[in-house]
Formats: sequence, structure tokens, C-alpha cells
Amino acid sequence: MHDDCIFCLIATGQIPADVVGEEERVMAIRDLNPVAPQHILLIPKSHVASLADLDDLTVVADLASLARQLATGPDFEGGWRLVSNVGPDGGQTVPHLHLHLLGGRRFSWPPG
Ligand code: 5GP
Ligand code: ZN
Repeated sequence: MHDDCIFCLIATGQIPADVVGEEERVMAIRDLNPVAPQHILLIPKSHVASLADLDDLTVVADLASLARQLATGPDFEGGWRLVSNVGPDGGQTVPHLHLHLLGGRRFSWPPG
């Protein structure tokens, strides 16, 4: 728990969030500023700065598993995207590991 980390505060219920899924080690919340009709963040409950700092990689399986459970329904039928931004060049703005689950529109490649 990092007192100044927004996702730690959400994970401990000290800041409200729209929680759409939860398991033992991970949880899913709706992004505050969605960039797609479906924009969900998968976060570990324990603080880890990014994928580059994660020691226990089984947590990634938990995050991906929850993402896959949530990627159902009409908005996800045509496909979806799961991405983790790492560091400034990766576009990471919140230094607590998270995966973006995006759906509900067609995404371009390569990313900007
Ligand atoms: P990043 O840029 O680090 O990959 O993604 C951080 C994401 O967290 C952004 O999409 C941003 O909209 C979202 N975000 C930032 N602050 C909050 C918050 O307080 N609550 C929620 N639900 N999402 C947030
Ligand atoms: Zn944190």
C-alpha cells in the first residue's frame, strides 16, 4: 500500500471507483476517462509500479484471466485489446501496474 498511489487508494476502498470485477489478488475498474465504449483497468491489489517491476509473473495470468471473463457481450464480440503501458515512452501515467481492456470499436495499429 502506497499512500500516495491512486490505484492503491482505490484497491483499499479509500477512493471510490466503478468496480466491475474482483478476485483474490486483482480487481477491475472502469477507467475514469474512457477512450473506447468499453475501457476497463485490471490492477493488482498489491502495489507494483509496472510490468517491469513485477516479480511474481503469475499475477499477469490473474489479470489476463479477469480481463477475459469481462470481455463478453456485444461490445467485445468483434474483438478487443489488452495493453499495459510501461514507463514514460510507453505512455504510463499512473505508476501502479495496470492492463487496459478496450472494446466496443475498431482499434488501429500501429498505436500512436
Ligand atoms: P496509463 O496512462 O498509466 O497507461 O493509464 C492510466 C489510466 O488511469 C488512464 O486511462 C486514466 O484515465 C486512468 N485513471 C487515472 N486516474 C484514475 C482514477 O482516479 N480512477 C480511475 N478509474 N481511472 C483513473
Ligand atoms: Zn499502488
